[in-house]
Amino acid sequence: TTQQKVALVTGANKGIGRAAAAQLAALGMTVLIGARDPRRGEQAAADLRAEGGDVHAITLDVTDPATARAAAKQIEERFGHLDVLINNAGITGSGQVSPEDAHDQVPSSVDLDMVRTVFETNVFGVIAVTNAMLPLLRRSPAPRIVNVSSHAASLTLTSDQDGPFAALLPSAAYTPSKSALSALTVQYANELRKDGILVNAAAPGYVDTDSNNHSGHLTPAQGAAVLVRLATLGADGPTAGFFSEDGSVPW
Ligand code: NDP
Repeated sequence: TTQQKVALVTGANKGIGRAAAAQLAALGMTVLIGARDPRRGEQAAADLRAEGGDVHAITLDVTDPATARAAAKQIEERFGHLDVLINNAGITGSGQVSPEDAHDQVPSSVDLDMVRTVFETNVFGVIAVTNAMLPLLRRSPAPRIVNVSSHAASLTLTSDQDGPFAALLPSAAYTPSKSALSALTVQYANELRKDGILVNAAAPGYVDTDSNNHSGHLTPAQGAAVLVRLATLGADGPTAGFFSEDGSVPW
């Protein structure tokens, strides 16, 4: 017998995470909407159930390890295992200002507390959630972890003086937090390779969401496609990779 596949998407009450949740549910998975605000999580889950998905909200603030542990306990009791973890929850640190326009992140004048806040969510939160969920992922026949990074995190693209990414406003907060997430992705992948757990980083592209005040040109569904592809890789799929919908992204 094949057991029902279960996926957890963090920060899935809106934006790219919500679109990824909808796509995983359409593939027949049971999907858990991780949300720091239970009311927003329930609303998104109810909306996706109305579209026919087996979708449930779970309270999870990635900066609060107690909620990660509580979520893991709930998943264990209800489903016994987890097949997919998408670490999607993220903040820019500048509210709904696109990282490209976030003058408060320029390295020479950045507020260190803002840097700490961004890393707390985008980097340390991923470690806390991943480690809370790993015992459940190990019970899956084909565990997959997807970390939502960004093209702007690519040291190769951003250090190319002739390329478009070097022209972006310099950031000491959001951009390096995603570079750290990319680095973490490789380290987790190397540790977990022997256990058959595939760990990859995704670059969704510039997506129309609240995080950039809807200046992105891709729809959340288009941005989520690469997350879903990496969440459903076959056994021969890559690990320790960085991908957009157009293929490999250089680190
Ligand atoms: P949104 O702002 O639309 O969604 C972000 C989600 O993360 C929300 O559900 C938010 O919850 C949640 N979140 C924030 N902090 C926490 C926390 N501490 N615990 C749990 N959930 C949290 O942004 P996007 O959909 O655009 O972003 C999703 C991911 O994609 C992020 O990691 C982002 O950095 C990344 N990304 C986005 C790009 C884009 O162009 N949009 C480009 C490259 C990467 P709440 O509603 O409660 O605030």
